[in-house]
Amino acid sequence: MPHTRAGMREVRAEGGWGVVNTGYCSIHPSSDDAPLPYCRLWNDDDIPVHALMVNAVHRHGSLAGVELWHGGGGTGNKFSRQPLMSVSGISGGSTYPGWINLSQSRAMDKKDIREFRQWHVDAAIRAKSAGFDIVYVYAGMNFGPYQFLLPWLNKRSDEYGGSLENRVRLTREIIEDMKDAVGNSCAIALRFSTDELLQIPGENLQSEAHEIVSMLSDVPDLWDLKSSDWVTETTSARFGEQGAQEPWVNFAKSLTSKPVVGVGRFTSPDMMISQIKRGVLDLIGAARPSIADPFLPRKIDEGREDEIRECIGCNICVSGYHDCVPVRCTQNPTMGEEWRRGWHPERMPSGDSATNVLVVGAGPAGLECARALGQRGFAVTLAEAREKLGGRVSLETTLPGLATWARVRDYRTNLLKTMDNVDIYRGNRVSADDVVEFGCDHAVIATGAKWARDILSAEGYPVAGFAEGAIYTPDDILAGAKPEGPVLVYDFDHCYMGSCIAELIRRDGQEVAIATPANAVATWTFMNNDLHYVRRRMIDLGIAVELEHRLIDFGNGLADLASIHRDADVKSLPAASLVIVGVRKVNDELFADLDSDSDRLSNANIKSMRCIGDCRAPGTIAHAVYSGHEWARSVDQGESAEAMLWERPYLAN
Ligand code: ADP
Ligand code: SF4
Repeated sequence: MPHTRAGMREVRAEGGWGVVNTGYCSIHPSSDDAPLPYCRLWNDDDIPVHALMVNAVHRHGSLAGVELWHGGGGTGNKFSRQPLMSVSGISGGSTYPGWINLSQSRAMDKKDIREFRQWHVDAAIRAKSAGFDIVYVYAGMNFGPYQFLLPWLNKRSDEYGGSLENRVRLTREIIEDMKDAVGNSCAIALRFSTDELLQIPGENLQSEAHEIVSMLSDVPDLWDLKSSDWVTETTSARFGEQGAQEPWVNFAKSLTSKPVVGVGRFTSPDMMISQIKRGVLDLIGAARPSIADPFLPRKIDEGREDEIRECIGCNICVSGYHDCVPVRCTQNPTMGEEWRRGWHPERMPSGDSATNVLVVGAGPAGLECARALGQRGFAVTLAEAREKLGGRVSLETTLPGLATWARVRDYRTNLLKTMDNVDIYRGNRVSADDVVEFGCDHAVIATGAKWARDILSAEGYPVAGFAEGAIYTPDDILAGAKPEGPVLVYDFDHCYMGSCIAELIRRDGQEVAIATPANAVATWTFMNNDLHYVRRRMIDLGIAVELEHRLIDFGNGLADLASIHRDADVKSLPAASLVIVGVRKVNDELFADLDSDSDRLSNANIKSMRCIGDCRAPGTIAHAVYSGHEWARSVDQGESAEAMLWERPYLAN
């Protein structure tokens, strides 16, 4: 998606990032990560695809970097169908289905190593032709050259195996080859993972990671340090703090005079400055903070820190990668839409200040809609039934580990407070009569959704007839209900809510079990890299787990669960209370009431009435924010606002 990527990266350059990199960029068909969204420099025809992005980045005075990559045995080659190759024919393993390779890798011989080096050089030359300023060697994260570094993968007996000097040889050679080829005009960066190597004692220094940085010290022009594992590197806010990589990278600067860059979901300028001042890093690297706010550096530069749209650490962006679609972001609805819809994260076309818009409901959809309409200059009224703004966000943010999610609300309410053209009415439950009497030009209904008590079996059929009694939904628990233990959480939502509710109740001192028809608790969370942490949390807290079972009955202190594979296999668990985490139902009474009488709307001169967010279709907070933003952009644009560009195969000539 060259236009999508160029559009997305141009905005980051405009936002003040000094260097804008590609994602991982394969140098040869023997390293193919399809269907995941990686890029390629396999031959000269790929050059113009990259030049598009490079030129876009250069237009704003930033440098463009390319993360040249060979995955070795750590990729799949599912598209290219080339045999995998690795240092000794052993690859780092994975237990996640999408990442398990169906074919093992073959050990690289000397000819392979010569070719491997040449592919790096060829790709570097193409990168230079495309205009890149920084060219990467990727010796990290279980990829090609990194596999040579690890003694448990490198079993070679030649000059590339055995001693650390030998294991580092290939990385050194590639950096030097690239320097010879393009070093006169491009910086050569080394992307290097440290955490695994920190655990291996070095010969002269504390660890092999220390030894490697001191051996290669000034060979690369830039050190880019990271964790060896993507799940660890991208730990969500639910399971880790910003700046968590500091212990893995803080030694490097004492061993090289070259600049060191690192990441860490940095959102606080104070934390960034602290790492620089304490000599941990020279340069702040960012994926998520730049996704949530492409203009973060510029806002810091201009003393507008309070306008930073802080990443909440939810990892919806990570799920976009696994879904093989452009990155999506909860906080930044324009992410990935820069080219396709022409959405800019900071600028919006101005609207007519005489046009009145009433937004009902101040959850993420209503808040974003009101904020964006306010920015556009419309006369906006936001009415919310509760005293507290934020809707589901204000509730969910009380769940264990989700405190940062309040930023979705706070970023928007802080901006709304500064807008003279926006009035906010709290504690105001709006009826259809209220809307008609209010007399706006446009009415937006953002009244959300509520968790249902319905049970759907694994096959999708409703199960009815449970004895009324101690049955709760997440809304009840979030409103403060305290179920009596033992509690069974029955989760067929499969996202974060079930495990969060189980954790909350467990921390409240109750015995809790979680049952699900899926083969893992919170099975979707593979997509946002939380799955492993969720499993560990359930173990740590002593929350019993019943997988691949559906709830068929509840009452008299028992919950009956049937195997999804064999109906006759039924087990009973002690359960005084049941929490059903399944489907949500739209709160569309207000919308339906207004929609039932179009004459009433037209008599009141209400030109349009639209339902947005969870009230239209329940989804993630990211869906709700996107929906609110989309409507705010399109209110005066008619159907043309729905238009978007579609990528076509990019033909160079
Ligand atoms: P979304 O995710 O779509 O923003 P939420 O459920 O988070 O939805 O927020 C919906 C908000 O709408 C809640 O804060 C709720 O109190 C409010 N709300 C629901 N019905 C009304 C109404 N009739 N008048 C005003 N506010 C309402
Ligand atoms: Fe941060 Fe969530 Fe946006 Fe990713 S999707 S950048 S984690 S707010």
